[in-house]
Amino acid sequence: MKKLFIKTYGCQMNAYDSARMAELLAPLGYAPAAEADGADMVILNTCHIREKATEKVYSELGRLKALKRAKPNMLVAVAGCTAQAEGAEIVTRAPVVDLVVGPQSYHRLPEMIARAARQAGHVLEGDFPALEKFDVIEALGPQQSDSGVSAFLTVQEGCDKFCTFCVVPYTRGPEHSRPPERIIAEARRLGARGAREIVLLGQNVNAYRGTAEDGKTWNLARLLQAIAAIKDVSRIRYTTSHPRDMDDDLIAAHGANPKLMPMLHLPVQSGSDTVLAAMNRQHTAEDYLALIERLRSSRPDIAFSSDFIVGFPGESDADFEATLALVRHVKFAQCFSFKYSPRPGTPAAAAKKLVAESVKIERLLALQALLLEQQDEANRAAIGKTLAVLFEKPGREKGQLVGRSPYLQPVHVAGGRDLIGRIANVKIAKLTANSLHGALRETLSA
Ligand code: SAM
Ligand code: SF4
Repeated sequence: MKKLFIKTYGCQMNAYDSARMAELLAPLGYAPAAEADGADMVILNTCHIREKATEKVYSELGRLKALKRAKPNMLVAVAGCTAQAEGAEIVTRAPVVDLVVGPQSYHRLPEMIARAARQAGHVLEGDFPALEKFDVIEALGPQQSDSGVSAFLTVQEGCDKFCTFCVVPYTRGPEHSRPPERIIAEARRLGARGAREIVLLGQNVNAYRGTAEDGKTWNLARLLQAIAAIKDVSRIRYTTSHPRDMDDDLIAAHGANPKLMPMLHLPVQSGSDTVLAAMNRQHTAEDYLALIERLRSSRPDIAFSSDFIVGFPGESDADFEATLALVRHVKFAQCFSFKYSPRPGTPAAAAKKLVAESVKIERLLALQALLLEQQDEANRAAIGKTLAVLFEKPGREKGQLVGRSPYLQPVHVAGGRDLIGRIANVKIAKLTANSLHGALRETLSA
């Protein structure tokens, strides 16, 4: 067997793609390896969202140069969004790279490896044949890597929103939804292999519009309903959503579909209408707050997480204050926040009124302090309550199990491994850092 090491950067969609790449290469005799040292092939599945993410890839390629010197026939591939965005520039900057493959064309890897063996030089692929990619992936059938209790399932790719700061529409291409029947078949297969929770993925997942075999268009709410009908699947989540695409059906689904978990990631980026307009988010702060209210009416115990960017060009102190005010109003359970990072080729990168780095840092620290306070409050509120926990794996200590609450909080209990893949009630006793600890009550699922 040849050894394959895949290093994954960035989002959950990259995690899904890395698993599929491993499956594609298994028939060629590649088995997963835990490290790059000694591997026959190394794939860096990259992220391009912020400058830091891209720089990490180049420093990793620097390290791989030494390994390749020791093992000259080792293949080095760069996949993912940096591969799509930078293409041939990658091999100019890092000649150690043999293959460059974008996120929509990695199904061509086996053929690219054969080409690399035949020809001298580098092999590059950067098309957007999304349909063809899923045809190849589906033909692989049930795979070993699908055996987790919680499994990712990509239902939609690409983005047509063109937020002015974001590279995704350029690296992942236009919006494309997979047909519902194929998604349902994949969800059934995952359920049969032990997945109890399915996380539907898409850059803009709630813009899902799949065309069924009868020619009808399905929205995400309809797809969620069909997946909820699969007996093996107990929990469903979806990410990432755009506020503009939260339609009435989807809001109603949160109240009507008990398998849909009461935790929603709904990025808002800023609380200032001026900044939201400059970002081309196509909604105001008030629209966002109204949406939160409607979701809370549909599902009163729903919790929210979000993404924020501070220091977008032109962001004033008052704009930043508006972000803090929005956060105070909503009370989020968990969030991600970033300093604005100009990305080549995006409209915002040409902006002139830049925010000083020191101000960006100051704002990020202030926002993160507030978000952390809210996260801590949400976690503390769980103490004394009984939560349904889906157990995923053994904990670090002997006899310990780790699972997730409906709100994605890690929960630790003392219990036997037979509970892995099952849901049980846990009475929460304490909080350490971000983890909850408690005692097992009754088991809810077989
Ligand atoms: N599609 C999602 C949405 O509409 O929010 C998220 C896509 S992106 C992979 C994840 C997050 O990265 C974004 O929500 C945004 O907060 C952040 N992000 C994207 N571009 C950025 C940039 N140029 N600088 C800083 N953060 C950025
Ligand atoms: Fe990027 Fe905006 Fe599309 Fe999200 S909606 S992927 S932030 S362009």
